[in-house]
Amino acid sequence: MAIIIKSKHELEILREAGRINAQALEKASQAVRPGVTTEELDRIAEDYIRSHDAEPAFLGYPNGTFPGHPYPATINASVNDELVHGLPSDRRLQGGDIISIDCGTIWKGYVGDSAVTLPVGDVSAEAERLMNVTQKALELAIDACRPGNRFGDVSATIQEWVESQGYNVVREYTGHGVGQNMHEDPQIPNWGTRGRGAALRPGMTFALEPMVTVGPPILYVQDDYWTVATRDGELCAHFEHSIAVTDGEPQILTLP
Ligand code: MG
Ligand code: MG
Repeated sequence: MAIIIKSKHELEILREAGRINAQALEKASQAVRPGVTTEELDRIAEDYIRSHDAEPAFLGYPNGTFPGHPYPATINASVNDELVHGLPSDRRLQGGDIISIDCGTIWKGYVGDSAVTLPVGDVSAEAERLMNVTQKALELAIDACRPGNRFGDVSATIQEWVESQGYNVVREYTGHGVGQNMHEDPQIPNWGTRGRGAALRPGMTFALEPMVTVGPPILYVQDDYWTVATRDGELCAHFEHSIAVTDGEPQILTLP
């Protein structure tokens, strides 16, 4: 496992990539309302990224499980029981839905990767609580990204918080190093053991992405080859930031 330490110059570019990505995500998020289609959200994000001379990172991304089905869009739009990799379509969002929008941007050869889960109109108290717990898991994980901690500490932070709230963490999909490639070493699971794994060092950059289910974290891939959903049809949520480890406070790279 080779974890790449980024130079100051590389961190600067990663911050720019992250900013464009976060702004594209913000634009798409602002358009979320009952009646909008997930394709329309996709177009908003793609137009924003291209108008800044950057490129969508997900478009054309190879499918590891189903070769021959590269990702055809700019965002992942995953609704309700869909966790990640939801394909944008002519599906219209309805009041009471929750939607995870995940977006990636390539800028000067470096990748920004972040995601949010949003309510569509008024949602149930359970949906609200699920989103809050998942977002808080991301905040706690970011705060754990300090020199002296190990990756196991970051993973355990997410798992302990989520399970203390009565929810479950997903096993099959993880956070990851991010840089010139969207997925670099190491994988950062949303579950783990404190004190295990490599030590965090300044200049490491990675995407943290808690994925939380209300029911058992048992997933399947829908017959579009991409959309990952919960087997029991219960709600799930997903938040993500790309961050950099520094000598002191962790730095979020994907801020608008
Ligand atoms: Mg992502
Ligand atoms: Mg990611």
